[in-house]
Amino acid sequence: MTVITRFAPSPTGKIHIGNLRPAIINWMYARSMGGQFMLRIDDTDQERSTEEFAQGIKDDLTWLGLGWDFEARQSDRFDKYDAVVSKLKASGRLYPCYETAGELERKRKRQMGRGLPPVYDRAALELTEKEIVALEAEGRKAHWRFKLEDRAVAWVDLVRGEQSIEASSLSDPILVREDGTYLYTLPSVIDDIEFKISHVIRGEDHVANTGAQIQIFEALGATPPSFAHHNLLVGKDGEGLSKRLGSLSISSFRDEGIEPMAVVSHAATIGSSNPIVPHKTIDSIADEFAFEKLSRAPARFDVDELKLLNAKLLHDMDYALVSERLKALGIEGGESFWDTVKANIETFSDVSDWWRIVQGPIAPVIEDADFCKAALAALPPAPLNENSWGEWTGAVKAATGAKGKALFQPLRLALTGEQHGPELKTLLPLIGHERVVQRLSGEAA
Ligand code: GLU
Repeated sequence: MTVITRFAPSPTGKIHIGNLRPAIINWMYARSMGGQFMLRIDDTDQERSTEEFAQGIKDDLTWLGLGWDFEARQSDRFDKYDAVVSKLKASGRLYPCYETAGELERKRKRQMGRGLPPVYDRAALELTEKEIVALEAEGRKAHWRFKLEDRAVAWVDLVRGEQSIEASSLSDPILVREDGTYLYTLPSVIDDIEFKISHVIRGEDHVANTGAQIQIFEALGATPPSFAHHNLLVGKDGEGLSKRLGSLSISSFRDEGIEPMAVVSHAATIGSSNPIVPHKTIDSIADEFAFEKLSRAPARFDVDELKLLNAKLLHDMDYALVSERLKALGIEGGESFWDTVKANIETFSDVSDWWRIVQGPIAPVIEDADFCKAALAALPPAPLNENSWGEWTGAVKAATGAKGKALFQPLRLALTGEQHGPELKTLLPLIGHERVVQRLSGEAA
């Protein structure tokens, strides 16, 4: 069997760290099985869906390196859905209901007041022809519910194990609203059948939907795909993420300078037994994926962990992966510059600060002019290389008697104007003999 998975976002907002997980998990599973990954834009809600959000979703996936093999858009496919709806109406599985939202709410409250589950009572199935005519004459329009069969729906969930839902514990799902628009439930099943989706992988907030959708697959004469429901993310305080989603969007991470591979590495491993470690490229990330590694408990997301992972990723990044980006920033220090400063950056753009320090002009900090004079006298001749630092500090130590921090810190302050920073051994040749002389003399250079 060919594995075909899909990521099916509704373009009613940006992708954030929570709904990126189904994207990554579907992508990893398809890649690890040599299968295909589909992007499906679930835009049946035409009022809330926008082209801008749909494009934003594609831009985010592209930025992350999560390519898709093919795509479809539900708003292009209404004809197909209409044809299926006609059939379901004809067979009586789809039935018209006329309750208003207020009436349904009152029913629910009454049921809850009596300690009953708030399941739709199917009152609409009892309506006579005459009553229906009268309701329509009042100007009411029908919404359409799918009649579930009263039996248990069972499946072996690839994350949660054996699942069984009594259909009688579910309300007959509304598939078509009174204005004729579709909820996602039916189009999703129709598409999953047509695009031969082998595995539906989504968050565990969809478990009850799966109970109803399996019956829809069966009503349409199809074998349901395999299902996997992954755990959800909560904030570090244990609360749901919904309140802070704006600041947790993929585009806001991009704007903050977080590397795509930090986001992917984090989202691919959080909530699983795999360690959260940085992956340098997307190629290897699917190799370790397995459904059994996903935990059942909610996973805590902490943005500081993502930032830490981002720094770790950069600290270990090979020059070949960043050379073009350095050039684009006008940084010509090459591999030795990158290797010197990478351990001292948290986001990539920090390299510009170190390049400015190398190139100058900086304001050197001279705390002891006599010491700096002695250091200048001991400076090896141009050109400085990676041995110069050792030779130089040996000579300064001999001349002044300073050692340890008392030896290195005044040199760092004079050469960089900073208290902390990359290894001076490699920084020294990058700064170069001329600027070192000027800075030791207290000149801005
Ligand atoms: N559009 C649905 C959602 O975003 C898709 C759910 C599914 O994967 O079936 O929740």
